[in-house]
Amino acid sequence: MNLIFLGPPGAGKGTVASKLKDILGLPHISTGDLFRAAIKNETDLGKKVKLIIEKGELVPDQLTVELVKERLSKDDTAKGYILDGFPRTITQAEALETFTKIDSVINLEIEKEKVIKRLSGRRLCKECGEGYHIEYMPPKKTNTCDKCGGELYTRKDDNIESISNRLEIYTKETQPLINFYTEKNLIKNFDSSLAADKVVENVANFTKSL
Ligand SMILES: [Zn+2]
Repeated sequence: MNLIFLGPPGAGKGTVASKLKDILGLPHISTGDLFRAAIKNETDLGKKVKLIIEKGELVPDQLTVELVKERLSKDDTAKGYILDGFPRTITQAEALETFTKIDSVINLEIEKEKVIKRLSGRRLCKECGEGYHIEYMPPKKTNTCDKCGGELYTRKDDNIESISNRLEIYTKETQPLINFYTEKNLIKNFDSSLAADKVVENVANFTKSL
């Protein structure tokens, strides 16, 4: 079962995908992890990726496709995989079709207001990095880490303007992909404003029909 995951920032895509990985017994493949691993292992592709990232440039489609293709040729993908963060462009999606067959595109949907509420409420500990949420996972003492007593702070890009901006970029980037896979009858939408476990359950139930 070959799955692609799509979802805006704040939809909990990484959490849902990694829980499904265990339930379905499929590898969770994210391009971010692939880049990091290739750089760390100093593969030929990794060296190229490192140079590009160091220059602050975007990794070109062709290179990303090569990395994904190489990853999908490994034995652990024999029963399928969960792709996260790939494809990002139509060029990548078309390239993907030349070496694998996608069974479904899991599209996590969540309203902008709910994303803003989720992300703008996040707090991190300055000392130990522990994460909190002022509404969903508040610390016992206001603005203070339960674990180490450190002061909590808000990530610079977790403000409303920056979140709106990220959502806008995501929508602009992803809508062509959604259209591409809708035409192929591969898109399946899920309400991602629910609790992560519920979203995982809904997606897992759906995959039984594949
Ligand atoms: Zn702390």
